[in-house]
Amino acid sequence: MPFLKNAPIFVTGGAGFIGSNFVIDWIETEQTPVVVLDKLTYAGNIENLAEVKENPLFTFIETDIGDIAKVEHAFSLHHPRAVVNFAAETHVDRSIDNPLSFIDNNIVATGRFLQSVRSYFNMMQKGRQDQFRFLHISTDEVYGALGASDPAFSESHPYAPNNPYAASKAASDHLVRAWHKTYGIPVITTHCSNNYGPYQFPEKLIPLMIMSALTGQALPVYGDGLHVRDWLYVTDHCAAIRNVLEKGRIGETYNIGGGQEKSNIRTVQLICDILDDIYPRADGLSYHGQIVSVADRPGHDRRYAMDTRKIEREIGWTPKESFETGILKTVEWYLDQTDWLQKIMAAK
Ligand code: NAD
Repeated sequence: MPFLKNAPIFVTGGAGFIGSNFVIDWIETEQTPVVVLDKLTYAGNIENLAEVKENPLFTFIETDIGDIAKVEHAFSLHHPRAVVNFAAETHVDRSIDNPLSFIDNNIVATGRFLQSVRSYFNMMQKGRQDQFRFLHISTDEVYGALGASDPAFSESHPYAPNNPYAASKAASDHLVRAWHKTYGIPVITTHCSNNYGPYQFPEKLIPLMIMSALTGQALPVYGDGLHVRDWLYVTDHCAAIRNVLEKGRIGETYNIGGGQEKSNIRTVQLICDILDDIYPRADGLSYHGQIVSVADRPGHDRRYAMDTRKIEREIGWTPKESFETGILKTVEWYLDQTDWLQKIMAAK
């Protein structure tokens, strides 16, 4: 018998930034069950899922995706119709300090997870196999860096990762592709640009700048600050993933981006402008005065930009949020979240 539409999906890394937004969005829009598999590293926190924790459609399993016994047990218990694989170590600076943890979590654990997926897939009836999907969440960083006037990355851009995080994601993409070509697992891979929005751990650029500004600390910008990122509001990414899961072609890759290129210095200045406007400093000075330039990091990619014509054409997805509206919502969200921040910082 094929899967019923209300069979659960598995979301790995669902207690992290994008994963938790995706789970909340899924339960709200699809109203079908979700099982989160997450090992709760420093970046994953069950508090991110407080909104859905008590919902009967939500199940949480604390596990490393590389724990084959635990993961296979979860598959045999819940029979998911799809897997959305977010689980990964994600902070580039940490990957420079401790690359081996990225090899363990993003490459070895993905390989072990794919073996569990393969065992589950092989035990399914044909009707279910035809409907099953493994959606792997990758990044624009696997493509390397662009020059100022280069065309944006298309899906056929060669891989050229420049830092250990990007290299570990590239390796996991190749494993996913190989498990499709060799073992017939019905995979789809998406490559997304930089996300921002609620529940992002405050080590990444945007929440770090907001939190540092509010606590009177320096706002450190790498080098000349002219590194360009294409920003996507996280709920636009969630909608893209939902649509790719439903309409994406097996074995294909899709680029996802906001079409909102901004230099890092411009992003930090915008945050300062918003804070000056809605949460002025007690001393009347501008937050701009807290911006400082620090030595650039090694292997720092100059520019990313995504060519999203394929997903627009085939899937009919486009982002709803502009950077200006999304960044305002994000600053307002962080201003409101002293409780959440205290809890997630205390847990680490
Ligand atoms: P995050 O660091 O906020 O969360 C990662 C989650 O994965 C955490 O909850 C962590 O506990 C969990 N995890 C890590 N290793 C695990 C393992 N071996 N087993 C089980 N759980 C594990 O990351 P994020 O920013 O939400 O990114 C999610 C995914 O999206 C990643 O694969 C990342 O590469 C990709 N991505 C992120 C961005 C971005 O801007 N944040 C952009 C493009 C793609």
